[in-house]
Amino acid sequence: MPIASGAPRPAPAARPKKTQKPRKRRFSDPAASYAKRLERYRPGLVGFVLDGLASVYGREAWQRRLDPTSELILTILTQNSADINAEVAFEALRRAYPSNLPAEVHNPGSGWGGFGLSTAPPPDWAAVEFAPIEELTNVIRPGGLANQKAPRLQATLRRIREERGDYSLEFLAAMPALEARAWLTSINGIGKKTASIVLLFCFGMPLFPIDRHVERVARRVGLIPPKATIDDAHDLFLGLLRPDQMYEAHVNLIQHGRKVCHAQRPEHERCPLLERCRYVDPKAP
Ligand code: SF4
Repeated sequence: MPIASGAPRPAPAARPKKTQKPRKRRFSDPAASYAKRLERYRPGLVGFVLDGLASVYGREAWQRRLDPTSELILTILTQNSADINAEVAFEALRRAYPSNLPAEVHNPGSGWGGFGLSTAPPPDWAAVEFAPIEELTNVIRPGGLANQKAPRLQATLRRIREERGDYSLEFLAAMPALEARAWLTSINGIGKKTASIVLLFCFGMPLFPIDRHVERVARRVGLIPPKATIDDAHDLFLGLLRPDQMYEAHVNLIQHGRKVCHAQRPEHERCPLLERCRYVDPKAP
């Protein structure tokens, strides 16, 4: 029907709104994209390194190395000290603060640079936490850097006790690996390397500790970018390796760094990685 002039025009029917598809958000995973890039430019490099090292050092099966609290304390004692000196300091803790706990067996594996701890009960952790600081410093002095490490040991034990009610770290087993790593690294003086050692060696979690030997070999071959920090490299390796490869890769890279790929005068001629090593040939495939 025609509308009389002057009469209000009816409002136009509302247009149906276009239903927009929700945009997919892209979450970037630096480790996954680095792994893809490395595979594109240097295909098969990770497998080549793992197989080459395994041809010399074998494929060691994982087994728990030590009680997790002992492992954490021992690993703190190794920070900037040789493994062998950390062992001496740990044994001194056992003697100075004996406990009635069951004896623990140390299975150091082939990446360890000491002799292995004796089979004996762990120290009395409460006695270590509450020891006079000068006394504790003197006890662990043979391990090196005792002035830094004694307060660090006490702060670590205090944090575990205050949060958990005792000194056990077994609760970490129930956590996803990155969450467990975050719990440990929230303790002052514990970085990704120390946390990853405890979680890989005591719980078999898929984490990859990078010490100076691993770092040297990985950088020379070109597994990690030259400018990556050690902190970043800890995460990049999680994209390069399958969970079941992490233990083997860690112990074999350490052994290779100790025995062949020395900081000074690496023995290229004995090296199974020679043909793809960027340290020897910057254009290696
Ligand atoms: S070729 Fe030489 S530098 Fe490269 S990984 Fe082997 S020993 Fe190290």
